[in-house]
Amino acid sequence: MPNANVKPATKSVVDYIAENADALAGVCDSLFWFGEPAMQEVRSAELLSGILEDGGFSVERGISGFPTGFMATYGSGEPVIAIHTEYDAAPNNSQKPGVAEHSAIIDGGPGHCEGHNVNGAVMIASAMAVRRAMEEHGLKGTLKVFGAPAEELVLARPYYVRDGYFDDVDVAFHPHLWDRFFTEYGVLQRAAVSAEFIFHGETAHAAMSPWDARDALDGVMLMDSGLAQYREHIRPGMSMHRVITDGGDQPNVIPSRAAIWWFFRDTTAEGAQELFEHGKKVAEGAALMTNTELEVVIKTAVWPVRGNQALAEALQRNIELVGMPEWTAEDQELARSIQNGAGVNATGLTEKVTPLTGPSPSIPAANDAGDVSWKVPMGRLWFPSNVPGVTFHHWSAGSALATEIAHKGGVAGAQALAATLIDCLTDKNLIANAKTTFADELAGTEYAPLIPDENTPPLDTNKDLMEKFRPLMEPHYADPPPKFR
Ligand SMILES: [Zn+2]
Repeated sequence: MPNANVKPATKSVVDYIAENADALAGVCDSLFWFGEPAMQEVRSAELLSGILEDGGFSVERGISGFPTGFMATYGSGEPVIAIHTEYDAAPNNSQKPGVAEHSAIIDGGPGHCEGHNVNGAVMIASAMAVRRAMEEHGLKGTLKVFGAPAEELVLARPYYVRDGYFDDVDVAFHPHLWDRFFTEYGVLQRAAVSAEFIFHGETAHAAMSPWDARDALDGVMLMDSGLAQYREHIRPGMSMHRVITDGGDQPNVIPSRAAIWWFFRDTTAEGAQELFEHGKKVAEGAALMTNTELEVVIKTAVWPVRGNQALAEALQRNIELVGMPEWTAEDQELARSIQNGAGVNATGLTEKVTPLTGPSPSIPAANDAGDVSWKVPMGRLWFPSNVPGVTFHHWSAGSALATEIAHKGGVAGAQALAATLIDCLTDKNLIANAKTTFADELAGTEYAPLIPDENTPPLDTNKDLMEKFRPLMEPHYADPPPKFR
């Protein structure tokens, strides 16, 4: 890091994170080996919130009814700046770190193949660094740190926003790993509605008296066929995908209950809702055809993620200040072997930070950070903790996540994030500028949460899965991470 013109508080956070690189790496690895999927991040949330509590934050756990969610607060008064990120793994994504072929720690078990374990570690390290700098340099303001469970199901943050947790926040930041070091602005990801369609009928013996049954699985199949036909007519930018969550019990009992779970996506919140409404019509048609009753459960619904230009420019300055990690020959060797194993170009790790260009095109995935980004100006930081060319939720995206590659990228990410938080605490113009440009960016669009007022989090999600796998995963848990100093 060049020394010229660096604020003392910026130097403090950058140094603090470098000095606590082992603690950051320890958190990263602990979360990796916990490998807890959406809504089951019990140990992960306990570790992260515990570090912040020990570090002088006041912690509120279980916010918005999410047992594995939390808000940690330090300081008081304005400005109020927030960091939020996820720490969930995904089902059937178990992968041994540092191994350049598909090799599960536990066959069929959940695991981190996207990198939310590194996200959690980066959030904690930045928060601890900024809290220390606020004290040392007498910086006024409030730092709020949000643990957001179940990102893989885009669940928590719409609830947080709906319930007022971001009402007093001035600006927010969301760190997420990537294979490059960059930030961006514009509409970056898709909106999504997640809903389960449950068909209710009546059982009968499938051979003896099928005419006495009302087949709930037929309802599911016909809904699926209806939407498969409809795919031809959706607009570019829209997509939908599903799993059958209940297909009955055994072939000779016609199922009285069957269920199918859909994600409906679009570049706009309106479009995602429109697609969902069409899905409902198709489901009603399927229920009519099969003489079954339909129940629709909205699990969550999110706005597309947007990034604010003023905050992106601030992030970019700090990304360039911090620079890329110094990769060793071993890091590059591991990256290339993972790329070879995955059958993608063996380009090795990225060596240069990515410049900030104009508004980014949106990627087809969604993230529940979206709702935060329409409520307050949000900066999105992508930090370089993975291997270029690998695809998320594939074993190859899990292999580097508890190695030096993830750790070094995490240190750089935490430094750039913390330095930008310091800018927000020390430069009133930056926050004012973020707010003005944010108003222009929204161009009159009024944000309102898409989730119904009465919705509560689906607490049983992945419960059975973890009852099966947790005992098998526990022997692999890492040693507790070193403490932040
Ligand atoms: Zn993610």
